[in-house]
Amino acid sequence: MDQALKTLQDKFGYREFRDAQQDIIEEILAGNDALVLMPTGGGKSLCYQIPAMLRPGTGIIISPLIALMQDQVSALLQLGIRAAYLNSTLPVQTAQETEQGLLNNEMDLLYIAPERLLQERTLALLQRTQLALFAIDEAHCVSQWGHDFRKDYLALDQLHQRFPSVPRIALTATADERTRAEIRQRLGLMQAKVFISGFNRPNIQYRISTRLQERRQLLHYLETERQGDAGIVYCLSRKKTETIAGWLNEQGRTALPYHAGLSASMRNRHQQRFLQEEGVIIVATIAFGMGIDKPDVRFVAHMDLPKSIEAYYQETGRAGRDGEEADAWMIYGLEDVVKLRLMLEQSDADEDHKWIERYKLESMLGLCEITSCRRQALLQYFGEESPASCGNCDTCLRPVATWDGTTAARKALSCVYRSGQRFGARHLIDILLGKENEKVKKFNHQRLSTFGIGEELDMQQWRSVFRQLIARRFLTVDMKGYGSLRLTDRSKPLLQGEAQVFLREDDRIKKPPRKQRITTEQVDDTELLEKLKARRKQIAVEQGLPPYVIFHDSTLAEMVQQLPGNPEQLLQVSGVGLTKLEQYGETFLAVISSHIRAGTGPE
Ligand code: ADP
Ligand code: ZN
Repeated sequence: MDQALKTLQDKFGYREFRDAQQDIIEEILAGNDALVLMPTGGGKSLCYQIPAMLRPGTGIIISPLIALMQDQVSALLQLGIRAAYLNSTLPVQTAQETEQGLLNNEMDLLYIAPERLLQERTLALLQRTQLALFAIDEAHCVSQWGHDFRKDYLALDQLHQRFPSVPRIALTATADERTRAEIRQRLGLMQAKVFISGFNRPNIQYRISTRLQERRQLLHYLETERQGDAGIVYCLSRKKTETIAGWLNEQGRTALPYHAGLSASMRNRHQQRFLQEEGVIIVATIAFGMGIDKPDVRFVAHMDLPKSIEAYYQETGRAGRDGEEADAWMIYGLEDVVKLRLMLEQSDADEDHKWIERYKLESMLGLCEITSCRRQALLQYFGEESPASCGNCDTCLRPVATWDGTTAARKALSCVYRSGQRFGARHLIDILLGKENEKVKKFNHQRLSTFGIGEELDMQQWRSVFRQLIARRFLTVDMKGYGSLRLTDRSKPLLQGEAQVFLREDDRIKKPPRKQRITTEQVDDTELLEKLKARRKQIAVEQGLPPYVIFHDSTLAEMVQQLPGNPEQLLQVSGVGLTKLEQYGETFLAVISSHIRAGTGPE
């Protein structure tokens, strides 16, 4: 184990292992299998990289993310680690050289896409190679219960049969109990030790509001809190990603769309710009993001409701991987629920599957509507207990005001009942507000006893009432009737005056106070920080690499704090290992010493 710690310090430049990293590495070094659940940014990669370096032979990393392999490999090469990748984007000649290198035992890590791995040719090649381990990244892709199912992953159980003596480590950032069980079963990992790290991401501030005017809300947020920061904006439809990106550009931000309908080369270009330039906003559908390893994403904004808590957690998890403060910001509305339900009901999935999806959507909606701590609810969903209130979500920072909605709810439910449970919220609200429009007249609804009985609330407030009644299952959305609302078994006590409901007061555009920021924001000497960043940028441009591959922001911040004066001191800074010291030590030390001299010299 001394060896592992030495590798961590010398190669990666980190002082100590985090949480379970050490136990996991020991397990693999002992030749056993492992299933690792760790939140995004938790440090999964080291768990297989270090054993792959220490065990004889090459570690094979199976990852579905072809577009990212090159970045992962160049980051490793920067650290002086022998790594390569094999996928369909490589020219034949390069692929052949890599394969030869593999046979000659010249590399510690080989990244490979599942479809490539499973070709008979590749399997035969591996059979002639000394293998240190198999790492199966994004292991939840094997689960049909999970949300990123990939057929190729199902065939990975072959590895167990063909290479019984090679240890396997499966890793994922999201997996509730069912997904976990499915991963173990499908990958033949019944004997594997399971390592579960907490799902909590304390540096992410969760904020969910109702949609009022989506563009204004987003712009207000970006302008008041996120000037110049990089982030991801998620939208439900391809078209919306393009219009929002175009509009953000008009507002003076650099925003790029990303969705499966764009050409591969354009997607790749946009992704590269997001990774390499500073302050770029990607406006994307869920097609974007799996495995994106950009540490300084400061916000993830959802313009529409995700379809499950798993998806929400994974998407928001892309913020703040460097451990500094970041936001998960979201707006949603009643129409999202209806739209997602429609998509769900119209899909070809079987009835069981639809039942699961419905349950997941309802849980997501529940998370939006709660009046208690969001983080607590999120962690509970993943089966994790958490301390009282987190202090870093909107409901903790600004307790939600509630009002007695019993009378309003009763009016709404009886309006549903009297109009025959055949209409959507929009029409029901028109009835309650007493609007004599065409549709109302067509169905003679101005004659209903509920016509015009809801004038004490406005349209916005009624939408809020209906949304919350759905979220709490007093009403259900009937998809055979294209989004019409029906009563449930919970409606009756409320209608008969035997139950009360308290509803949350919806937001008007306001913002909660910020929690204190950490690291780069705390640096006193921002001038030095800027100088170090400029130097990093120069090197990044020269080498055609993203800046954070040279050093993370947090590493630069620590340099400013500690002001290392020689190589030994620089090596103490987290994120500086021997290879990086050798490559960049001198130049960064020079920036620091000349800055200090300039500060103390004559004016
Ligand atoms: P994951 O794959 O779990 O999302 P990564 O493996 O990419 O996370 O690690 C996230 C970040 O944390 C990376 O920048 C990594 O270098 C850093 N990191 C991992 N382990 C340690 C450690 N023991 N000490 C300091 N930083 C670490
Ligand atoms: Zn909270």
